[in-house]
Amino acid sequence: MIKKISYLGLGTMGSGMASNLLKAGYQLTVWNRSAEKCKPFARKGARVADSPADAACNVDLVIYMLSNDEAVEEVVFGAKGILRGVKEGQVAIDMSTVLPATSLREQEAYAKRGVDFLDAPVFGSKKESAEAKLWIMAAGNRAIFEKVKPVLEKFGRTVHYFGKNGNATAMKLVGNLIVALELEALSEGLVLAQKAGLDLKTVMEVVKVADFRSPLLVSNGQNILKRDFSTSFALKLMLKDAGLIEKFAEGLESPIPALRVVEKNLASAVDLGFGKENASALIKALEKEAGVEVTARPGS
Ligand code: NAP
Repeated sequence: MIKKISYLGLGTMGSGMASNLLKAGYQLTVWNRSAEKCKPFARKGARVADSPADAACNVDLVIYMLSNDEAVEEVVFGAKGILRGVKEGQVAIDMSTVLPATSLREQEAYAKRGVDFLDAPVFGSKKESAEAKLWIMAAGNRAIFEKVKPVLEKFGRTVHYFGKNGNATAMKLVGNLIVALELEALSEGLVLAQKAGLDLKTVMEVVKVADFRSPLLVSNGQNILKRDFSTSFALKLMLKDAGLIEKFAEGLESPIPALRVVEKNLASAVDLGFGKENASALIKALEKEAGVEVTARPGS
């Protein structure tokens, strides 16, 4: 049974997820590149590790949630990386959004040390992470999945098993392709509605109930109308994911014409200086081109 867990990467997603492990009563060790993010966890009884290698010592399970492939490279394969600290019989789970090829490289490296590995990325954002309502996918050895499932259930409302390593990260990229296109559709639609002089509040009321509704369109649309671009999922991470989707799809010769358009608009919004804002700031690239700003009418 899993009792001792290390959690590495206390960013927007990781901080909520690690908090839920503490709440569930696991003995928690934390590590983060910027050490100050560990302090709230130390105050609640977590051990703070000096390095990823140190974090991997004397635990049953190592979980990490990092920005991108480069961060995984450093934290897993680096001089003081997790692989330097793990021991036979442990389990490691990468929950970051990375390339499926990276998941396979991780699995091979861990296997050489007798360590089992799952790729287990998530859907949902800051709020779902804090409230343990994420949607989780996991891939790797089935028996290991069953062993760690009770831990994954502390993070989310659903956990889907995807078979061999790399399949869960592949599913994450499939999902984020859909998310990217939804955000582009919402942005183009709202800019067109603004240009047409429609009442944007009523537009969103229709978006909320019509047969094309989705929670993602509703929450992002409402925040755009309030001009609230506070970060749940950073625009620069969405651009990173567009790059991963492109690489993954090209490798499989799968067409992604619409994704290429979104990627260009995401890059424009990053160039305009909105990379650290929420991914919905994608609309600002289109607003600039259109010469309008999407807002609800005062008093409406
Ligand atoms: P975030 O807030 O930017 O946090 C990123 C984490 O990675 C931080 O702990 C950061 O450390 C660490 N990190 C980055 N580069 C590093 C490096 N070179 N070495 C060591 N640590 C490094 O990002 P997030 O929103 O939590 O996202 C984390 C992952 O989840 C990403 O792969 C993202 O695509 C995915 N994801 C995000 C969402 C979302 O809505 N936010 C949803 C689903 C999946 P510092 O604190 O030192 O910067």
